[in-house]
Amino acid sequence: MVGRAAAPRIAEQVALVRSRVGAACERAGRAQGSVTLIAVSKTQPASAMLEAAAAGIADFGENYAQEAIPKLERLQAAGAPGLAMHFIGHLQTNKARVVTERFDLLHTVDSERLLDAIAAASGGSRIRLMLQVNTSGEATRGGVDPSALGQLVRHARSLSEIELVGLMTIPAPSNDPEQNRPAFRCLRELARMHSLAGLSMGMTDDFEVAIEEGATHVRVGRAIFGERY
Ligand SMILES: *Cc1c(COP(=O)(O)O)cnc(C)c1O
Repeated sequence: MVGRAAAPRIAEQVALVRSRVGAACERAGRAQGSVTLIAVSKTQPASAMLEAAAAGIADFGENYAQEAIPKLERLQAAGAPGLAMHFIGHLQTNKARVVTERFDLLHTVDSERLLDAIAAASGGSRIRLMLQVNTSGEATRGGVDPSALGQLVRHARSLSEIELVGLMTIPAPSNDPEQNRPAFRCLRELARMHSLAGLSMGMTDDFEVAIEEGATHVRVGRAIFGERY
């Protein structure tokens, strides 16, 4: 058989997620354009990212620089222009250089040591980042404790190489998105206290609740690309 079209699955999923984002915005009385939908493409091939880009996705989230960079190069070679790359993985100081060079926004900065490494690796450009906050008190999750956030915000603002744009959180895993609402509220309140506009919160299982609580960036993987294997 000749010319059989690829299954339109990713395009359909993108459209579905977009309409759910739109409905959540409406429920919350927010403007439709106030939420950036980040398609989390870890473990997905560049071809799947190209499908998502063709369906209108302009922002991608990746957890590992090593995995992301070859895919990014394939996207650029395929002529997908103007894509923004978000680093959402665990960040290590020895990766600061490559991550600042290749990503447009870093979501997972949680220590002064990392801030200093990023500033030192900035190579003259201003690095946009968010501070990750541990809103659920779990030792295994990354993020700064809310009680130490003030000091970290001050440190970030003391570095001219850094543009602090917001806060990010990953709540403890749960089966009920309503259980994550307090964590999202907590992040919103912390951002308000520090006059920060950006709120990166909400994933496949809870992005609608996150939007109701003020998310400006939702990070959605499985609802767009399907289960990861
Ligand atoms: C993998 C990942 C996501 C996406 O998770 P889904 O449940 O697939 O939507 C979002 N944020 C971070 C930090 C992740 O590591």
